[in-house]
Order: sequence, then structure tokens, then C-alpha cells
Amino acid sequence: MVCLWSFTLPTKIIFGADTLKRLKDCVDEIKPKKIFLVTGRSSMEKLGITSKIKSMLDYEIVVFNQVEPNPSDTTVDKGIMLCRENNCDLVIGLGGGSAMDAGKTIAILAENNGLTKEYLRKEKTIEHKGIPYIAVPTTAGTGSEADNAAVITDSEIKKKLVVRHDYMYPCFAIVDPELTMSMPRKLTAVTGLDALSHALETYWSKKANSLIEAISLKAIELIYHNLPNACKQPKIIYRENMSLASTLAGISLAIGTNVMHSISYPLTIRYGIPHGHACGLTIIETMTFNADAIPEKMKAIANITGTSDIHEGIENFRNMINNLGLPMRLSELGVDKNDIPLLAEESITRRLELNPKPIEPKDIEKILLNIY
Ligand code: NDP
Ligand code: MN
Repeated sequence: MVCLWSFTLPTKIIFGADTLKRLKDCVDEIKPKKIFLVTGRSSMEKLGITSKIKSMLDYEIVVFNQVEPNPSDTTVDKGIMLCRENNCDLVIGLGGGSAMDAGKTIAILAENNGLTKEYLRKEKTIEHKGIPYIAVPTTAGTGSEADNAAVITDSEIKKKLVVRHDYMYPCFAIVDPELTMSMPRKLTAVTGLDALSHALETYWSKKANSLIEAISLKAIELIYHNLPNACKQPKIIYRENMSLASTLAGISLAIGTNVMHSISYPLTIRYGIPHGHACGLTIIETMTFNADAIPEKMKAIANITGTSDIHEGIENFRNMINNLGLPMRLSELGVDKNDIPLLAEESITRRLELNPKPIEPKDIEKILLNIY
């Protein structure tokens, strides 16, 4: 018997508008003594979501609202200390990928010794299960609510690195698209491009299998048809479809990302380009680069846009992305042209091995020059 693939998703996903109400049932199932609520610095308080959660839950809650975008190891270390000091036995990560990843890492490392950077640098490995962790996304992009990874910035060496372990899957993910309604247009576009990058990279990944391909292709379709509308009109249906796409692509992230994400990290670290934007910049160029290695998959992607012609399909995606209103050229984003060889060098990571076509620094240089 040949096993073509196996897949375990230990996270119970609760999806739909207004499902934040179900948070209480999830917490009641865990019966914690004290909750550690991890958020970003301001939006959740301003939008009244932190206070809504506090009033909904009849539990003692310690709020840790210090997570910055692209969270650093030192912020996470602070959270771990505070979580331990307060004897919290449940972590809730509420926010975008930054708050969810910080919460996820705090939950696992609270029960494992050492500093966050030691796990990022693979000097230490996770040995024990963490504190139970619940993810509540408020953006539609990272998929962190449905995967076993967290992306944290190593502040000493200035690199975005990943901690990944099956113990890091959230026990519950509450995906309530209502929570994404407050995202301004730019954040909607940027996070949507992150989800599109996850869906494309996992669809064409060397590690893809028929389950991943089905999930990722559906996510690509949802994003193509809903992201422009979600940016323009505050209608829940577009938000629902984007949250669904983001969570689906998040499930596929079990096999990791590859080319756009590799190229994105130095762009974020060096120029502060938001994560999804940095990934989205190279989508069209990498689609074009990969096309001859994966003609069948590229045909399926083109079909989503209403054509069987691969070239036309790529152009349709180009138009969709260009109409989101984000600057899409490196020259508009403060990148120095002389930095391109260095950026290409810094883009080389092991995850590039999962790209369907071998890719070298000189190919990445060309991609970056084409979008300059
Ligand atoms: P962030 O979580 O960084 O949030 C970006 C900004 O959006 C913050 O200023 C935040 O404000 C604000 N914000 C969040 N939700 C809302 C809302 N509903 N309305 C208005 N403003 C809001 O953005 P992303 O979600 O894009 O996450 C990016 C991070 O996720 C990166 O670090 C990236 O590397 C990581 N990532 C993780 C993956 C994984 O598999 N674990 C996959 C892909 C990306 P405030 O801070 O005040 O709350
Ligand atoms: Mn991403």
C-alpha cells in the first residue's frame, strides 16, 4: 500500500460572522484559572474588542498589549516572563499575525526553558507541550490561526525566523470575519496578498499533495474574486470570503512557504515594507518564472480568471493586484537599486528548495530588477 499523504489538523476551527460569541464556550472547555490575552499595541483597545472579550469571559485576565508588527524575540520573552509570573494557564492571541504569532510562541515557550532566540536559531528544540492556546484573527491574511508556526524577528541578527512544532497548533481558532471589517483598505490589500502568496506557494510547492492542492486552489479562487471588492466595499460577504481564503491557505501552510516569502523577509527587515506587501510584490514575476515548470498548475490558475491561456491568466492576476492601490515597484518603496544583489543574497533560504523550479541569486536579482 502506498501512502500518498497524511494530514492532521488538531485545531478546532469555528468560522462565521459573530462567532466571537463562541469564545466563552471554548474557554469553558479548557477551564483555566487565569488567561493571558496577547494583542497588538492599540487597535484592539480602540475598537473595543479587548473590553468586549473581558466582559464576555468570567475569568481573571492579564492583558499583554505590547506586540509590535513583525514581533521581536525580546517582546516575546517579556510576554513569557509575565505569563509565567502570573501563573496563566491559557493564552489567547487576538489580532493580526503579529499578535497571534507572539501569543502562540508565548504559549509554547512558557513550558519550555530558554530564550526565544535560541529556538529561532535552532539551538534548542521544543520538548514539552505548551499552555493551551486560542487564536482569534482580526486580519485576513496570515493563516496563523490554522498552522503550527510562528514568525518572530531575531532582533540581534535582524532576521525573521520561524519556530515550528506540532505542539504549536492552536486548540481553537475563532475566525469571525466581523472582526476584519475595521481593516482599512491598505491593510485589507496587504493581508490579502499575504494569503494569496500562501495559497500560490503551497499550491506549487514540491511538498504539495492532492489535499493541499485542492485547498490552496480554492483559496486562490476566493482571493481573485473577492480581494478587490473587500478593498472597495465594506460588505461582510467579501470579508467572509477573504477570511475563509486566509484560513484555508493557513491550513496549507503546514507544508511551509517558499519563494515569495523568502524574498520578502529582507524587504521587510531593511525597508519596513509590511509582510503581505513584501510578499505580494514578487507574485507576478515568480508566477512568470515558475510557469514553464508547472504548466498544468498554471493552467488551473489561469482558469480561475476565465482563460485557459497561461500568459493571459498571469496578466489577469497582474491587473487584479495593480488595482488594489498599493505601490508595486521597489523604487516607490525606498529601495536602493544598489542593494538588489545583497537583497537577492539575503533571500536565499532553505525553503527555496520547495519552489518547483530551481532558483538562484541571479534569478532573484532579475526578479527584483523587473519590479524596481
Ligand atoms: P499585523 O498583525 O502585523 O498587524 C498590522 C497592523 O494592523 C497592526 O498595526 C494592527 O494594529 C492592525 N490591525 C490588526 N487587526 C486590525 C483590524 N481588525 N482593524 C484595524 N487594524 C488592525 O499584520 P498581519 O496580520 O499581516 O501579520 C503579519 C505578521 O504575521 C508578520 O510578522 C508575518 O511574518 C506573520 N506571518 C505569520 C504566518 C504564520 O504562519 N504564522 C504566516 C504569514 C505571516 P495593533 O498592533 O494596534 O493591534
Ligand atoms: Mn505570510
